[in-house]
Amino acid sequence: MTSVVIVGGGVIGLSVGWRAAGHGLAVTVLDPRPASGASHASAGMLTPAAEAAYAERDLFTLGIESMARWPGFAAELTALTGQETGLRREGTMQVAYDSSDQAVLAEMQALRESFGAPGQWLTGREARAQEPLLAPGVRSALLTPDDGSVDPRLVTRALLAALDRCGATVIRRQVAEISASNDRVSGVLLADGSQLEADWVVLAAGAYSPMVAGLPAGSAPPVRPVKGQILRLRATPSTGLVRRTISAVVRGARVYLVPRDSGELVVGATQEEVGHDTQVTAGGVWQLLRDAQAVVPSITELSFGEACAGLRPGTPDNEPVLGPSELPGLVLATGHFRTGVLLAPVTAEIVAGFLATKHLSPLATPFMPGRFAGLASS
Ligand code: FAD
Repeated sequence: MTSVVIVGGGVIGLSVGWRAAGHGLAVTVLDPRPASGASHASAGMLTPAAEAAYAERDLFTLGIESMARWPGFAAELTALTGQETGLRREGTMQVAYDSSDQAVLAEMQALRESFGAPGQWLTGREARAQEPLLAPGVRSALLTPDDGSVDPRLVTRALLAALDRCGATVIRRQVAEISASNDRVSGVLLADGSQLEADWVVLAAGAYSPMVAGLPAGSAPPVRPVKGQILRLRATPSTGLVRRTISAVVRGARVYLVPRDSGELVVGATQEEVGHDTQVTAGGVWQLLRDAQAVVPSITELSFGEACAGLRPGTPDNEPVLGPSELPGLVLATGHFRTGVLLAPVTAEIVAGFLATKHLSPLATPFMPGRFAGLASS
């Protein structure tokens, strides 16, 4: 049986592992703390257009493809494991306060129209009729009814259970190095000095992907950490909650509010280029609460649940790195930046499909590792 080692058990590594096990491959996921990275912090929005603004058409297309797979992916996970994913399909409302916000929304609308999937323009009054908790200053809004969200913590928990059901192994240990012999991957060296052999290795270590040793010169993906601080608030019996994800640009920074069926409201997120630092700062919490309050004034009445930070795996073009690398046997599934949860189903299908058939889906063509030749981080 073909063996596959997956380095990293975030939403990407776990999804690839689950789908690869479904193809009959012998899967081992290695991660000292599975589901603890960016996937743990993530808001879980499934918003292809919002994230692929500024004419990132390839990313938008991949996002739409993945969005179409989410309902089936979630239903299969729940059927297999009995665990929920928190999938909601209430749409996203992007609100505008002034003409520059409206210009950004108009660009987004043009992109959607070019794909035959326009959003719906609302006046401030219409927006507040749908979301009564919105601030009075909202002048207009773009409603994208096909967007949704999941709870990434539920998703990764279900994925771990699904891997178990499919006979895959999750080993809670760190990979130190990717091993090769005769110019092909032969497995991985663990931090404890033990060796694990494999026919294929998938690098899915998120923002830490370039730090795994053994990647030949030119093969390390140029992934950098982009810190995001994010809050979890909770509705009380006397407070209401917005119905759908609300997003806005306040003082030049994007803020979003993502409601969950459980009564949780996720408020995110900062975007900071500060290396591998994951500290929650007073300034980050303050900025998020201040900006979220400008959108929905009553959030100050919610109870405070949690503040945390995660590292998005960013790339020079904001797009993921998918497919075989220059080192035969090494496949990359990283660099998902702001959309790893959205892109998990399609990434898993592309990468697991490649491992099983050696044929790379045309969906991956714009995202091949080779596009960064000469730019790779080591
Ligand atoms: P991670 O989840 O970071 O997982 C990588 C794993 O690799 C970790 O578990 C780590 O322990 C492991 N690892 C690292 N080094 C090693 C090693 N040497 N050996 C073994 N294992 C190792 N995306 C969306 O689609 N929608 C959103 O709304 C959204 N909101 C976000 C909000 C915030 C605040 C943040 C930070 C991110 C958000 N994202 C969102 C982005 C999304 O979370 C990421 O793109 C996604 O989680 C990346 O998944 P991953 O599996 O590649 O990385």
